[in-house]
Amino acid sequence: MKTTPEQHTSLIQEAIRALSTAHPKNPPNLRFGAAVLTRAGNIYASSAFWSDTLSLALHGEQAALAHAAAHNERDIVAIACVSTEDQAGEKFCHPCGICKQLLYESSQASGIDIEVLMANLKGQSLRKQISEIVPYPWP
Ligand SMILES: [Zn+2]
Repeated sequence: MKTTPEQHTSLIQEAIRALSTAHPKNPPNLRFGAAVLTRAGNIYASSAFWSDTLSLALHGEQAALAHAAAHNERDIVAIACVSTEDQAGEKFCHPCGICKQLLYESSQASGIDIEVLMANLKGQSLRKQISEIVPYPWP
């Protein structure tokens, strides 16, 4: 599905806004936010969901997908990912391998080649289709 520059801007801004909802224990320089755009045109955002175990934490992308699913929206058109890893705010945030797999599976279920906006805190992004960044998916 074709997305617009205005949708890209909204998606990135919502992902950045979601960073402010991070759990207080989440280190300020290690916060992640994501926002998904659905086929219906709605945006669902989330920060990563903290766990003291670290291994049980939900990534921002996972939490944003769950946020959309909680509203019965599973047809994801695009996702924006941001992080606070880079103090200068210039580094593009790439989804991890687990999140790429989840996005790939969502893409397979909906038939939509999800647009992935790997964004920075300045609102810039590197845009790729999920089929480009997961060339050899499992299974
Ligand atoms: Zn991840």
